[in-house]
Amino acid sequence: MADHRVVVIGAGMAGLVSALELARQGLDVTVIEAADAPGGKIRQIQVDGAPIDSGPTVFTMRWVFDEIFAAAGTSLEAELSITALPILARHFWSDGSTLDLFADPRRSLEAVATFAGAQEAGRFERFCAMAREVYQALEGPYIRSAAPSVMGLGGQLGARGLATLTRLGPMRSLWDSLGQHFRDPRLRQLFARYATYCGSSPWHAPATLMLIAQVELEGVWSVQGGMHELARCMARLATQRGALFHYGQHCKAILVQGGQVTGVELSSGQRLEADSVVFNGDGAALRAGLLGSTVQNAVPGKAPQRSLSALTWSVHARTTGVPLDRHNVFFQADYESEFRDIFSKGRLPLQPTVYVCAQDRGTGSVPSGAERLLCLVNAPASADQPNSRLTEEALEQCQTTSFQLLAQCGLTINPQPEQMQRTTPQDFHRLFPATGGALYGQATHGWMSAFARPGARTPIEGLYLAGGSVHPGPGVPMAALSGRLAAAALMASPALTKRYHPAATSGGTSMH
Ligand SMILES: Cc1cc2nc3c(=O)[nH]c(=O)nc-3n(C[C@H](O)[C@H](O)[C@H](O)COP(=O)(O)OP(=O)(O)OC[C@H]3O[C@@H](n4cnc5c(N)ncnc54)[C@H](O)[C@@H]3O)c2cc1C
Repeated sequence: MADHRVVVIGAGMAGLVSALELARQGLDVTVIEAADAPGGKIRQIQVDGAPIDSGPTVFTMRWVFDEIFAAAGTSLEAELSITALPILARHFWSDGSTLDLFADPRRSLEAVATFAGAQEAGRFERFCAMAREVYQALEGPYIRSAAPSVMGLGGQLGARGLATLTRLGPMRSLWDSLGQHFRDPRLRQLFARYATYCGSSPWHAPATLMLIAQVELEGVWSVQGGMHELARCMARLATQRGALFHYGQHCKAILVQGGQVTGVELSSGQRLEADSVVFNGDGAALRAGLLGSTVQNAVPGKAPQRSLSALTWSVHARTTGVPLDRHNVFFQADYESEFRDIFSKGRLPLQPTVYVCAQDRGTGSVPSGAERLLCLVNAPASADQPNSRLTEEALEQCQTTSFQLLAQCGLTINPQPEQMQRTTPQDFHRLFPATGGALYGQATHGWMSAFARPGARTPIEGLYLAGGSVHPGPGVPMAALSGRLAAAALMASPALTKRYHPAATSGGTSMH
């Protein structure tokens, strides 16, 4: 199959998985990546001489990677040092209360009982059971499925899955649904936050997104060397199987003739011929014509509502006060105002929730000096809007408010200027063109939005899509799944099945 040439545009998680899957099956794979390293949003930046993971930090759904690595003839353990975290996340509220959730469900139950009483612990247990049921109902028919439709999903859910979703009320918002589960507003807030894992507001996200809570309750892992090590590892595996990577190369056009992809053109002017192309950038870039007008119709014409952006600070500094664990969330009292500010008013939240990833903690050791932190608040994806409210003054104000919240919760971080690097929605927009800084593709708002993402196949022959803006959606494991779906769609294309499985496509028996 080495004469089937594939160009993968982008070495984000989905592009890496597509490249690995296609190279291991013998295709001639070339990856073109604008940045100088693999990973895309899985970025590592140097601050004060320390490498800081400045993109995704919460590694969940390891089964996705177990399957991908097994298909490549290896395993996560053989390639990486990976540890299950005993504490999933530590939560702080401005009223001084704190709650840890644990990998061990019994410890979580005890912690919730101490935090909010025995009756609330019972409700927590029932919520976990419901979230598990929702996840189990949707894993096969939605998450793993190539391009689920409402009708198709209805047919595949089975009686049990249908009963689960009916009980949940698919039209209900996550926030409403959580109100039926919890009496304690802090627990409702804690579990509502999972909507932000796919860049959405709990007030508009469908109740089905509670499955994200289940994903985290199933386990969170730490990769030695950081999440970026996972990206580097995938690039290494793909290279070992024959894929070629070109970093620092921007692709400016996907070339099409007679409705069929013929190659790509780089900003340097160089042209690469290809029989198939996998595009791992955001679908918004295609829609905006950034890859040429002939591929604009590869995604639906109407731009969907954008997901959240973020304002982040990568920090290398000493912390004092309350002890951090690996994943820490600091909540304000008025949670709804955060999403009203972002989605309705298009401004940075006046009362942001602050996430702090303490990258040297969680696996037993406690740093004695400066430690590596990623601090993140949600932000509007409006970096490219003419009247964007993301002014320097607003960014500074948000930084002050965020660090004040940490201090109010008992955590002091006082980085010197050289110990901190800020990344704004404007920076994310530059890194991920046509997004306005949106980090998770389209927002999952309204129950139909989950069916609005494009699948891997496009109307253009030989052009496939993979990434967080494509089904099944954002997040490292979901993007990885979309990369696998794109590779599977490509392998099942007539161009490959006709040439390599002639008997199979003519109705006879395959020789393979
Ligand atoms: C700050 C932050 C925190 C996050 N936290 C989490 C988390 O804790 N857990 C989690 O699971 N997920 C998290 N996410 C989301 C997760 O990182 C993404 O959903 C996922 O990594 C997206 O992968 P992707 O395949 O869409 O590729 P992307 O990461 O979007 O990469 C696409 C790549 O394509 C390249 N590219 C695009 N166009 C071109 C072109 N024309 N020519 C050449 N190259 C091009 C880009 O340079 C980029 O490298 C977070 C994201 C961010 C930014």
